[in-house]
Amino acid sequence: MISFDNTKVAFADKTTSELRKAYWMFLLVKRPFLVKIGSWFLNIANRIKLPLRWALKPTVFAHFCGGETLEECETALNKLSSSGLKAVLDYAAEGVQTEKEFDEARDRILATIEMSKTNESIGFAVFKFTGIARFALLEKQSNGEPLSQQEIADYQRIKTRARQICESAKDAGIPVMIDAEETWIQTAIDEIVEELMIKFNKERHIVYHTLQMYRVDKLFYLKKLCADSKKKGYLPAVKLVRGAYMEKERERAEKMSYASPIQPDKIATDAAFDEAVKFCIKNIERIALSVGTHNEKSCEEAMRFMSVRELKNNHPLISFSQLKGMSDHISYNLALEGYNVSKYLPYGPLRLVMPYLIRRAEENTSVAGQTGRELYLIKKELKRRKTSKS
Ligand SMILES: Cc1cc2nc3c(=O)[nH]c(=O)nc-3n(C[C@H](O)[C@H](O)[C@H](O)COP(=O)(O)OP(=O)(O)OC[C@H]3O[C@@H](n4cnc5c(N)ncnc54)[C@H](O)[C@@H]3O)c2cc1C
Repeated sequence: MISFDNTKVAFADKTTSELRKAYWMFLLVKRPFLVKIGSWFLNIANRIKLPLRWALKPTVFAHFCGGETLEECETALNKLSSSGLKAVLDYAAEGVQTEKEFDEARDRILATIEMSKTNESIGFAVFKFTGIARFALLEKQSNGEPLSQQEIADYQRIKTRARQICESAKDAGIPVMIDAEETWIQTAIDEIVEELMIKFNKERHIVYHTLQMYRVDKLFYLKKLCADSKKKGYLPAVKLVRGAYMEKERERAEKMSYASPIQPDKIATDAAFDEAVKFCIKNIERIALSVGTHNEKSCEEAMRFMSVRELKNNHPLISFSQLKGMSDHISYNLALEGYNVSKYLPYGPLRLVMPYLIRRAEENTSVAGQTGRELYLIKKELKRRKTSKS
């Protein structure tokens, strides 16, 4: 089994000054009180367009994002590629609302796919439906409420945008991941993604659905998806994650008096995640899998299941994925051992990427142990650099 503790490998492409900056940032993020105040302040600052670029761009933004434009992402792409990792260029602008803005977002995603034709370091395209669709409309459709004539037309436009992205990914020969979101819009997303898989995954795994294993129903869903794909003649592909909206989901369920869709505790989520990974690896002749996690144990379990099945580390249908700025010790050590690894590389105008940055700060505060682990590893590497010459 590989060691994730090799910090020389994990931080090979980080300068000492970048590591010091990251250390201070994680130290701040470790304090929930500061993150709460900071998130509140940044939300307001963003809304009233307070000029904070000078403070955010070289620090938090540089740590978690690739750049504001595709050109700015080139340095990050080259760094990943020189360590054998692929990038998932993620246009992470959020809070867009108009049809024009949704079309613009689609065009940005199409541009990343276009770029992948000449830049081999891009392994996947990615998008989330709320980047190209109105949240309220996805919610209405998920609830099965009747849509007005205007809404029917808007809904068709959402499907067209998604289809254009997948079509273009298919032509460029790269897979496209579709992120999972809140349960109350996810039913509509599931329906569209299944249609897209039927259309585009005939010969190759082009469209990757995302399953959040903190949901009590998703293990069953995965098995059903696999069975349905046989009947309907397509190849299922999934990115497995634990899920990012737990608090919000639980609060809403309690407020609206319905049973929480989330697993009762972390142990149950962990078990469902590992079970889903195992199921996919068992069925790897059909399903393509991306293991989207910063959890060391789950990565080890995935590697173990692969070795039980005597699969090569670089099996073409299995990849691991982490977010830029998080768990480099997992990504870089896995890549060194020949596993397929891709890093989500969010990009977009600073102001529009702000909600993503706030979520990362909140996640690093709320996920017990995560920040402590990052701090420990950065400190270890800084010490190593001080005492060694290589
Ligand atoms: C490459 C990549 C892509 C991602 N894409 C998406 C996406 O499309 N949609 C999305 O929602 N998220 C996405 N995420 C975020 C992901 O869902 C997790 O929030 C994040 O990765 C933390 O989980 P973990 O597996 O890394 O590990 P851990 O740190 O071990 O797990 C933390 C997670 O466990 C779950 N959890 C924690 N406490 C409890 C509890 N008491 N009861 C039940 N469950 C609990 C929560 O999901 C929490 O986020 C993505 C993450 C990565 C790395």
